[in-house]
Amino acid sequence: MPEKDTTITLRDGRIMAYTEHGDLSGKPVFFIHGNPSSRLMRHPDETIVEKLGARVITPDRPGYGRSTFHPTRTLLDYPDDIAQLADALGIEKFAIFGVSAGGPYTAACAYKLPDRITKAAIVSGAAPMNRRGAFEGMHQAWKTAFRASRDLPGWMLRAPLWIQSQSANRTPEQALTNFASMLTDADREKLGRPEIKDRVMLSRAESTRQGHKGWVHEAKIIMSAWGFKLEKITVPVHLWYWEGDEAIPPQMGHYLESKIPNTSGHFFPGGGHLSIYDYWGDIIEALIADEPAWVGTNPIEPEQVVQLNVEDKPDDHCFICQKHRGDTAVPGGAIYEDDLIFISHAGIDTGQTTAYLGALLIEPKRHIPSLASLTNAEARRIGLYVAHLSRALQKGENVEHVYQFVTGHHVPHLHVWVVPRYPNTPPEYWGMKVDEWPDAPRGDAEEIAALCERIRASIQLEVIGEQMPG
Ligand SMILES: [Zn+2]
Repeated sequence: MPEKDTTITLRDGRIMAYTEHGDLSGKPVFFIHGNPSSRLMRHPDETIVEKLGARVITPDRPGYGRSTFHPTRTLLDYPDDIAQLADALGIEKFAIFGVSAGGPYTAACAYKLPDRITKAAIVSGAAPMNRRGAFEGMHQAWKTAFRASRDLPGWMLRAPLWIQSQSANRTPEQALTNFASMLTDADREKLGRPEIKDRVMLSRAESTRQGHKGWVHEAKIIMSAWGFKLEKITVPVHLWYWEGDEAIPPQMGHYLESKIPNTSGHFFPGGGHLSIYDYWGDIIEALIADEPAWVGTNPIEPEQVVQLNVEDKPDDHCFICQKHRGDTAVPGGAIYEDDLIFISHAGIDTGQTTAYLGALLIEPKRHIPSLASLTNAEARRIGLYVAHLSRALQKGENVEHVYQFVTGHHVPHLHVWVVPRYPNTPPEYWGMKVDEWPDAPRGDAEEIAALCERIRASIQLEVIGEQMPG
């Protein structure tokens, strides 16, 4: 199935990641994912959209997946990101649909981009939450979650959302079980289908690739006033809601219907919060069926899209780039990864079964040769994590000193070493030979993985600590 998974750089320098699938020369339809979710969300049967002739474009919202976190973003900032992505793809007019937490963003786009959006659909989408009766018909667990998002300061939301995001990444099955406990039988039946379950787990795990701060910020956006009058939306809006949905009950759809001037309501008995999977084709068909073939679009070759990606191109033969792509395994996995840097434990040399314990690497994601090539943002991020890693080693690993080295003699991809010296290391091994001491602590893959886990926990505590007020 044709698919693209790439990025553009927005005018303010942020990266926006997106996927495209379906009929890539077809009618463009933007899909705005729920929360927590990502650009990887879609119906597992991709032939549905391909047969309809739809080109489905799904961006990661800022702070989710691979899109840069945007600490001050509001609901009304989002349409500008979508307009820039459409510009980059050569798309003049398009349809848009959003599910659940993607509903408010879809409404904001319909409000702000009336000349570009042909039709919009809000599917199981949240209505404004700062109104009387906003929580009516909701399952108690959802009420509690929404109230916490509204009432708790952001720093208090970080810990529970961090635990949930860790769980989505480390134990996705368990995370899904927890999620399913807040849903209806109809939804649990959907999550019982392996192809849907796998897609949901994949897009949820990807959502917190950079941690959970995008999620914390979004919790506040969803609970705040939307910043525009629904009555001012001129684009036709389809509303899809199910009576059995106890996360976003149909009263939300009826509220939107009462305010937005030009709506088509699709309200169904039964169902649940995941009923979108039963109506995926119908929802898209209602958006594009009577649109002319091109909807003002320039067909675009896949090669052109890739060229729009202005990030430094990864090098196919660079083993550091291969590692970042996931093509080669690292013991213990990524300790930390975001849009700019990748941190891991040093690998075990060929022919060996162990490696010097605690030898850590920080690498920029870009294939650049030296410290001199770093952007200020990369330099700041690397410096911060040199400190985080050094403290993690000194506090938790019984080391007496931590070195930082950059040699760059052999590999043209900058890598910053953070390496401990253990107590009783003879002075002749101090410095760059520290790992040659015959009695130095060494570990196999399992011991390295355990150390990586301790470092991750230590970093996360520091990051939460930094965000606490005072
Ligand atoms: Zn490289």
